Amino acid sequence: MRIHGSRSVAARATTSRQRQATHFRCFMPYVRAIQIPVRQRIVRMVIAAVLGSIIGAGTAYLRPYFDGTVHYESFVSLFIAIPAVMVWLVYSQRRVRWRAAAPCLAAELASVMVSFCVSWSLVYGGFWDDMIDVSTAYLLISMALGEVVLLMWQRFYPLTSGPHCPGCNYCLIGAPSDVCPECGRAFTFHELGVIQTDL
Ligand SMILES: [Zn+2]
Repeated sequence: MRIHGSRSVAARATTSRQRQATHFRCFMPYVRAIQIPVRQRIVRMVIAAVLGSIIGAGTAYLRPYFDGTVHYESFVSLFIAIPAVMVWLVYSQRRVRWRAAAPCLAAELASVMVSFCVSWSLVYGGFWDDMIDVSTAYLLISMALGEVVLLMWQRFYPLTSGPHCPGCNYCLIGAPSDVCPECGRAFTFHELGVIQTDL
């Protein structure tokens, strides 16, 4: 919360920009940025690794049942199962600011691919010929795609630090009561679209 005494020209200009931003938000979803605590990031990494290893082990387990030239189990895991996990990883990072989300997403995607290869090899009892080439290419493509999707997402659905006062647009995060500290207008959590713990 900023300390405010007499309002400067700069402060009025900021308020004007905030009003424009509010007008813009009328047509856009109201998306508040979140931070993922370190412990939750570790849990996400573990979940990603577990999912990757389940898919890898399942694929290797099913391999003997597909003894023709086409290995459908590999197609399903490489084009459906792993991408589904990756889509979830990208989607669940969409409210984290890109600079914070990008390295986490890269690490999570890497843990999916590494755990996939390790568990596949353990269950099957060896590498396939070009496993390192294929999985590295797959990892780089999915990282690039994931980061671009995340970046575009936040470009078109900008994250905001709101909620803001409906009267003067002052940012209400940290407001000690249900009265705007800037203009004195009373507000309800319902009209801000938040619950009390959001402030
Ligand atoms: Zn206000």
